[in-house]
Amino acid sequence: MNDDNNDNSSIHIPFCDLAATNAPYAAELKEAAARVIDSGRYLHGPETAALEQELAALCGTRHAVATSNGLDSIRLILRALMELGRLRPGDEVIVPGNTFIASVLPVTELGLTAVMAEPDEATMNLDMDDALRRVTPRTKAVIPVHLYGTPCNDPGFYDEMRQRGIFLLEDNAQALGASVADGRPTGGLGDASIVSFYPTKNVGGLGDGGAVMTSDPVLAQTVRTLANYGSDRRYHNLYRGYNNRMDEIQAAMLRVKLRHIGRINSRRDEVARLYSAMITNPAIRTPMLAVGDRQVWHQYVVRSKRRDALAAHLEAHGIGTNIHYAVPPHMQPCYAGSIGGGLPVTERLASEVLSLPIADVSDDTARRVAAAANSFV
Ligand SMILES: *Cc1c(COP(=O)(O)O)cnc(C)c1O
Repeated sequence: MNDDNNDNSSIHIPFCDLAATNAPYAAELKEAAARVIDSGRYLHGPETAALEQELAALCGTRHAVATSNGLDSIRLILRALMELGRLRPGDEVIVPGNTFIASVLPVTELGLTAVMAEPDEATMNLDMDDALRRVTPRTKAVIPVHLYGTPCNDPGFYDEMRQRGIFLLEDNAQALGASVADGRPTGGLGDASIVSFYPTKNVGGLGDGGAVMTSDPVLAQTVRTLANYGSDRRYHNLYRGYNNRMDEIQAAMLRVKLRHIGRINSRRDEVARLYSAMITNPAIRTPMLAVGDRQVWHQYVVRSKRRDALAAHLEAHGIGTNIHYAVPPHMQPCYAGSIGGGLPVTERLASEVLSLPIADVSDDTARRVAAAANSFV
């Protein structure tokens, strides 16, 4: 950013500027950090306990366990289900093909079989019919991802999974604060959910953090134990666990951010609606605006057959963009065909999606981004 350049059109619009994101909360964050520093409680303290209560209330679950990050949260749930005898190595877990790789890594790490399913063309969330076609007698869990902040919501599909005894693990990393038409929040629709507080997420920490939400007290307790070396009481290790706890200082930072979640999410919604109203270029497809469901716009993702040219055009106009995600997990070198292929919708989306700036965007900035997008030929 060049502050002493008065020519408005040449000011760079970054895709994301975390210092700017946190600036409105800096005084509160510093005060909260000082409180923890002076308290002498750095783990297992009152900030973490309070954050857990606030997260459970937000997601409409009975329990929440604060953790080290989103990926570890998924692993904790799956490991807990294995310890409880509800999942066995080799069991199949359905995951959308166009998700961030962290949705898949814990599945394969634990010796479960990842079955990648196609996204729906319109919503870009899991295609429920495609997922149903991939269900086999070995299918024991499905991970619906509320991608880009749009609820992955099909009551019929959730009911069908429940009837078949298939565990519903919502990956709510990108959608904290979203809800479905009847008002129920994402993160409380399935049997358990995870959230991530990675710094760029809508409620972003000052470092890593995550949480597990569930109304199942046994699952919650098992996750909590696993995240603390597998220790159910002092120096007694029931499981071969992990150290996946959240720090008190991070919990305090997140409690500050969480107080502002309403404003954070509604501003993103305003910007998304401005973009959708103003971007009229037929070469660009804007994302679906859900009817009834509340989207929280972790990303505002447009599509174009000429995505790379569009990104270069916006860059030439000083606008930073990003791609979520350019290479789907099944095509990453670490998987190289081992988690299936033949996902034409997933692969086409990977070649067409482009994320526009959505955090800390003023109305004026939104107008400039839309005008630049409309001038793309
Ligand atoms: C960010 C993210 C994760 C992982 O969260 P971390 O806290 O970065 O480990 C998992 N799934 C999705 C969909 C994400 O966007």
